[in-house]
Amino acid sequence: MPPETPTKAPAPPVSLIDLDRSKLADLVTHCGEKPYRAKQLYRHLYVNLADDVDQMTDLSRAFREKLSDMSRIGSLHVKKVMKGDRGLTRKALFRMDDGSPVETVLMVYADRATVCVSSQSGCPMACVFCATGKLGHLHDLTAGQIVEQVLWAARTLKTIAADHAEKGEKLPDRLTNIVFMGMGEPFNNYRNWWEAVERLHDPEGFNMGARNFTVSTVGLVPGIRKLADEKLQVNLAISLHTPDDEQRTEMMPVNRSFPIADLIAAVKDYIAKTNRRVSFEYVLLQGKNDNPDQAERLARLLKPDGVPLLCHVNLIPWNPVPGTPLGRSERARVLAFQNVLQQAGIPCTVRVERGVDIGAACGQLAGDGEKAET
Ligand code: SF4
Repeated sequence: MPPETPTKAPAPPVSLIDLDRSKLADLVTHCGEKPYRAKQLYRHLYVNLADDVDQMTDLSRAFREKLSDMSRIGSLHVKKVMKGDRGLTRKALFRMDDGSPVETVLMVYADRATVCVSSQSGCPMACVFCATGKLGHLHDLTAGQIVEQVLWAARTLKTIAADHAEKGEKLPDRLTNIVFMGMGEPFNNYRNWWEAVERLHDPEGFNMGARNFTVSTVGLVPGIRKLADEKLQVNLAISLHTPDDEQRTEMMPVNRSFPIADLIAAVKDYIAKTNRRVSFEYVLLQGKNDNPDQAERLARLLKPDGVPLLCHVNLIPWNPVPGTPLGRSERARVLAFQNVLQQAGIPCTVRVERGVDIGAACGQLAGDGEKAET
């Protein structure tokens, strides 16, 4: 008897959000439709925020049926949405086709709405204070999977704004900021991440202004140098967390490859090229990196030629990550640290936290949302 051929699982249908404009146009032609239908389809996805082909009622039924047979809108499956801060923070746990987690956080304020997006499932960077780092690297997300998270947030925001409007409370109904600070290191998935930025920026589609994007990096120097040459000027945030090389390597293994001096040199060049202010993120850990002498050294580091860099320091009181023997800095230590920087002429603020109660704050994303309550 001939050996049995193992049956292969059928490939999942193509995700429409994974197709750029030219590939969408190819799909439309392949379906035997007129080219202008591609523009309609694109607008449904990025302007009308359709999450079902049947919502695209100006396309013929036959075309919609073809689209449903051969494609799906996106490839991330929402498994759980948790609410915090009176429903104004929402953390979505998505699963990829193979079950890998992806998390996205929407934060709604009276005057703005920010979505924090993942660029990878898990993360290879292994920062010691971060829950995502403990998962290791599972996947680089495609441009479409990065975009998809933003579209989820934009739809969710519309619902939140409509619910609050009924109670007479006005909230923004359009996203104002997209920050790449979720799971993963964006510069470790640069090509897909940048394609997502360009797609979301497209004035004929989602139309998010370049200055409303912020990318956060652990300090991958090649990524910083590449970003300086891009034509869209997005905001850059660097996770610094200590002015001392030895300690930084302990906290962030990436420092072995890109030590602090190289990082600051790249930031100086970035500022010289773009004339844009850079943010430094500094997670404060009690008794570890929150001493006044470290604040002094940080101030000196950020004044390489005796004048402050065009920068801003964002102090982040550390958020609890289970199983880590680290402590959150006391308020008095946070304020003393801030004071040293401000006295040195370096603008410095303490981040107001959102989503700590649902594990949605910085460094807390670990794909474990299914354990939590909706
Ligand atoms: S802090 Fe960012 S770069 Fe570091 S492990 Fe966590 S997700 Fe990765």
